[in-house]
Amino acid sequence: MGVRVCSRCLYTQNHPLGIYIDDKWLCSGCKVHEEKDTLNWPEREQRLKSILAEYKNKNLNNYDCIIPVSGARDSYFIVDKIKNQYGMNPLLVTYNAQYNTERGIRNLVFLRTHFDCDIFTLTVNPQSIKQITRATLRRLGSLYWHVLAGQTVFPVQVAVRLKIPLIIWGAHQGVDQVGMYSHLDEVEMTRKYRKEHDLMGLEAQDLISDEDQVFAKDIYQFRYPDNHDLASVGVRGMYLNNYIRWDTKAQHEGMITKYHYESHPQTRTFDTYNDVDSFVYSDLHDYIKQLKWGYGKVTDHVNREIRLKRLCREQACDLVKKYENYKPVFNKQFMQWLGVTHNSLMFILDQHRNKNIWKRNESWQWQRVDEHLQPNLKTIEANKLISVPDCNYQVTKNKKPNYQDDSYVLYSKGWVNG
Ligand SMILES: [Zn+2]
Repeated sequence: MGVRVCSRCLYTQNHPLGIYIDDKWLCSGCKVHEEKDTLNWPEREQRLKSILAEYKNKNLNNYDCIIPVSGARDSYFIVDKIKNQYGMNPLLVTYNAQYNTERGIRNLVFLRTHFDCDIFTLTVNPQSIKQITRATLRRLGSLYWHVLAGQTVFPVQVAVRLKIPLIIWGAHQGVDQVGMYSHLDEVEMTRKYRKEHDLMGLEAQDLISDEDQVFAKDIYQFRYPDNHDLASVGVRGMYLNNYIRWDTKAQHEGMITKYHYESHPQTRTFDTYNDVDSFVYSDLHDYIKQLKWGYGKVTDHVNREIRLKRLCREQACDLVKKYENYKPVFNKQFMQWLGVTHNSLMFILDQHRNKNIWKRNESWQWQRVDEHLQPNLKTIEANKLISVPDCNYQVTKNKKPNYQDDSYVLYSKGWVNG
């Protein structure tokens, strides 16, 4: 018995956030996405402005809100909206992901310069990060847990410490990708969603173990503040995609035109905008996603573009075929950083392969064995949005053309070799 494939996008029901495909073979993500063409967005934006007005600091003795940024992923768009268009005074907060590309660092530097903003950065010591990453690789097959944990907790800790109650995030993936909630639910940040979906069910304190040599001193930076502290400041985290019709491609292109945001080709996807700050995200991290879930980021990206009426199904299938077979190219840097050999990394990753998807054949090679139930042509036709694709991602001029991402920048990565 195979898993159903949506008749509009290419998701199956096998999705880490959960997705539902109905008897018309349309997935929950595609259905909720239709709201982007039916909701009254000018009215919703007005609603957002009135919420923001409540948080404007009248005494001019503190920031109005916190914006978590990485430099990439719509950071420019969000800061431009909140500061330049709505007139708020934000504090930018960033967690140093340590897998930085120099381009990502440059985008972040230009972000704080263009927008004249204060920024609060956390760089956790490299020893703890490596211990945590060894542990999460072993237990979850994840090298990205510390980034997801840091990015989702540090802004909340700063909100509590500096008593800035409002945190403004970009898109909620439960709404934008899988349709877990409607835009009308106006879902906000929660401890529960973070633990179950962002952190794959593993909180910081769950990592403490003698076996992995991870101790309390290594993980306290990743602990979510307690409910009493959150309530005493009144911390809330809202998502802009509930109030603004979210279109990350158009948003990035606006920022390329206005502020010369730098884009760059990625190893395993055609989206040259979102994840240019990390050398593992669209690379080794995405390759692992495919071992665990049977698909990579390129599927997320083509589905988004199908729903935004820029890609047809046929071209989406071609893009997935092209990109999901690319092998990661930055393994060496990652292994050197963590101090693991190729064989031990591959051994750990094989432990986390989804055995319903991958089996070894007689020559001991991994082969896909999962079956997909494809919708029939009539259903595909009935749910089709467009037939002529128009989906070009720009590659901007590199502000430092001689630099190669396969050599490391030392200080700005938060660590040095040796
Ligand atoms: Zn779908």
